Amino acid sequence: MKIYNTLSGRKEEFVPIEPGKVRMYVCGPTVYNLIHIGNARPMIVFDTARRYMEYKGYEVNYVSNFTDVDDKIIKKAIEEGVDASVISKRYIEECKKDMAAMNVRPATTHPLATEEICGMLEMIQTLIEKGHAYVAEDGTVYFRTRSFQEYGKLSHKNIDDLRGGNRALLVSGEDQKEDPLDFVLWKPKKEGEPYWDSKWCQGRPGWHIECSVMSKKYLGDEIDIHAGGEDLVFPHHENEIAQSEAANGKTFARYWMHNAFLNIDNRKMSKSLGNFFTVRDIAEKYDLQVLRFFMLSAHYRSPLNFSADLMEAAGNGLERIKTCVSNLQFLLGSAQEEALRAQEEELLKEADTYRVKFEEAMDDDINTADAISAIFELVKFSNTKTDGGSSKAFLEKLLAEIRVLADVLGLIVDQKEEMLDADIEAMIEARQAARKAKDFAKADAIRNELLEKGIVLEDTREGVKWKRA
Ligand code: AMP
Ligand code: ZN
Repeated sequence: MKIYNTLSGRKEEFVPIEPGKVRMYVCGPTVYNLIHIGNARPMIVFDTARRYMEYKGYEVNYVSNFTDVDDKIIKKAIEEGVDASVISKRYIEECKKDMAAMNVRPATTHPLATEEICGMLEMIQTLIEKGHAYVAEDGTVYFRTRSFQEYGKLSHKNIDDLRGGNRALLVSGEDQKEDPLDFVLWKPKKEGEPYWDSKWCQGRPGWHIECSVMSKKYLGDEIDIHAGGEDLVFPHHENEIAQSEAANGKTFARYWMHNAFLNIDNRKMSKSLGNFFTVRDIAEKYDLQVLRFFMLSAHYRSPLNFSADLMEAAGNGLERIKTCVSNLQFLLGSAQEEALRAQEEELLKEADTYRVKFEEAMDDDINTADAISAIFELVKFSNTKTDGGSSKAFLEKLLAEIRVLADVLGLIVDQKEEMLDADIEAMIEARQAARKAKDFAKADAIRNELLEKGIVLEDTREGVKWKRA
């Protein structure tokens, strides 16, 4: 399998540190609002990469954080007059629901920044001791960027150009820095902000340190793959490398994968530009499986422009696969012959060439666009080579093949079983009982199970309302 590595700027053969195992870290969202479909792109594409590696037999330890302490979270908490943790907890829960609805599997571990402060204090202390960080008069701790010789190696920037040319990247007003390039590891609290004790000052961490610390704790000093959106290359990932490699004295991550932007009218979709759709907005109009299909219809390193036309094309594409699956199921219902016929054995060899094509595409830097084409070829083959006279074994083999390949992409191609109203009501009752018993984990699990089946719950003053998505 080849992966494009941002660090080397080319596709490289993927060789894990430990045979058969993959240690992968994906930077997760800052939780101050519902996620938009730009944030959903890395979730979907790296979930797909993970699924493919598992399909190939790797055991994948997949870690993705939630940044739950940040200026934007604090701002929102002040606006609402609540604790910052109320905001972050709320949006973590909402984000998990969106992930489930997009068939993005939960990470092996989803660490939270606020629960890893101890590890951050330790790493910052190590950096100070090794001369890579220093404490300013007001207690702010800065990373001494020039002390890390290889700074700029990921983003292919020359440290001196950064200083001279890229003024916009420098943070103003930090006059206690030795050098404008130095970045914050720990900063003093401001009135009304959450803070933790440290030997330097009561305060909170800078953004970059959390990923270095969580990656080390859950995956070790050296990991195989570190991933995120391309806006994270600089400065976030560059700073993570500097922190981790300076503190641990080892190569941080071997492969760096970055997805290109999801755009709208050819501009990056972002909260700050206001040109975004949340995953919830999209769920009102489309099946989220269509959103997933749309995201995978382009290669993850190509910019993708969101449009109603492309969503319609994605809907049609997904429907083609689903129709084939239900046709096969229909034929299976009345198939007479049990065992494969000689001629069908030959046909299965041909069907196998489409699986090979699929794998070749995915082995080529997770080329989901070509992988989808291979599934389409298999679908066309299946549509033309099956009929009422096909054997059960033949139909089952084709059906299994299509399902397995679609599942690697996280696409659900079986028609959704419509839940009966009575079953929905019974589950809602069970959820209410769980809430009453303060078993919120169970209550959430029931809610998520319903969501996966396309049932959306709304808690209102008059009780729980539900609708089919
Ligand atoms: P944030 O919450 O802004 O830190 O973003 C969470 C993740 O979403 C990061 O990996 C970002 O790079 C990614 N991201 C944000 N906006 C977009 C976009 N328009 N297209 C693709 N990825 C994005
Ligand atoms: Zn990160």
